[in-house]
Amino acid sequence: LFNNLQLLPPDALFNIKQRLSTDSRPVKVDLGIGAYRDDNGKPWVLPSVREAEKLIQQDPDYNHEYLGIAGLTSLTQGAVKVLLGQDSPALKEDRVVSVQSLSGTGALHMAASFFTKFCKDKLVYLSDPTWANHNAIFETMGLKTASYPYWNAASKSLDLEGYLNAIKTAPQGSIFVLHACAHNPTGLDPNEEQWAKILKAIVEQDHIVLFDSAYQGFASGDLNKDAFAVRLGLEMLADSAPVIICQSFAKNVGMYGERAGCFHLVLPRQDASVDTEHVKASVKSQLAKITRSELSNPPAYGAKIVATVLNNPELTKQWHADMVTMSSRIIKMRHQLRDSLVSLKTPGNWDHIVGQTGMFSYTGLSAEMVQRLEKEHAVYLVSSGRASIAGLNSGNVEYVAKAINEVVNY
Ligand code: PMP
Repeated sequence: LFNNLQLLPPDALFNIKQRLSTDSRPVKVDLGIGAYRDDNGKPWVLPSVREAEKLIQQDPDYNHEYLGIAGLTSLTQGAVKVLLGQDSPALKEDRVVSVQSLSGTGALHMAASFFTKFCKDKLVYLSDPTWANHNAIFETMGLKTASYPYWNAASKSLDLEGYLNAIKTAPQGSIFVLHACAHNPTGLDPNEEQWAKILKAIVEQDHIVLFDSAYQGFASGDLNKDAFAVRLGLEMLADSAPVIICQSFAKNVGMYGERAGCFHLVLPRQDASVDTEHVKASVKSQLAKITRSELSNPPAYGAKIVATVLNNPELTKQWHADMVTMSSRIIKMRHQLRDSLVSLKTPGNWDHIVGQTGMFSYTGLSAEMVQRLEKEHAVYLVSSGRASIAGLNSGNVEYVAKAINEVVNY
């Protein structure tokens, strides 16, 4: 029955990890996978998370029971405030439906499943380039995807004109997937003025916005700053269209393998003829149906940790400090890499490395250079030239700069 199945290539990113683990050279650098590392190159359990885990396990009611289908309410309620802000009009007006998801990927999958059921003819617009899994998630559910220009390779900046043009020429009411902050893979975000133009064009065309929020607080260390686009979008779309937000706690709480996340649907203000309570209940029931058939109920352990961090003021304070620790180390590494490349007189301008934000830098290195970095220097990154800056540390940044210098020069 299965003898003629096509053999698919391994996942590009996870395959890097595989090659790295079998590389016997003494010095190797992993700039592939997007996971935070400390200055010793080790995974980092956030101090706020360690404390939360202690509290959870000391609880006399500690157990591993199932959560409800919509997940842990203390997580979803805490999470939506992080994203929308304490003073959010949408929260005050009670227009938000939130459920727990299997991290950010699960939230995106839930969105795709929801679209497939209720608006399957809409085109889903993704940035060019985007996180590779975006295409896979929406296409696997049978949705049609299209792309909007984003990265101008020549200037290593935002192709705003192309972006706006795509919004204007897309069929009215299309779905636009927007990276809330720390765009993956480019590390390039629109500035505040550009966001206003992008969102205005989206409102004018009645498009539906899906914000993918995988790096809030991780990019700048400031949750509010990193939520700028989401909050502006909600304000501008408040009277016209629903907004979907897929929220991951993989990076900002370091919950990578615990799969803690949320799916939020913010309804617009409606006139009195619409029974918003009924709409919310219906949406929630449909989301529950999706979760029930796919997961039965979402994972509990990571959810309890994140909920404890979000609902305990002391731990919330510690978490904010933890995000500053991570983001400032990454920013420092960006500067050290750029400065080393400049002092080595590596041809080209490397300022984009410090201008970009979040986990990644789109270095501008060609696929051939990336291949040589791996072969000749055991420096691993994806062929697009995207480097996970979290893989740099004070012990290897100079080595990486010298390796880049060599492949660019010779
Ligand atoms: N969206 C983007 C843009 C991402 O980079 C990631 C993580 N690489 C995710 C969503 C979701 O990740 P996770 O499923 O681990 O939360």
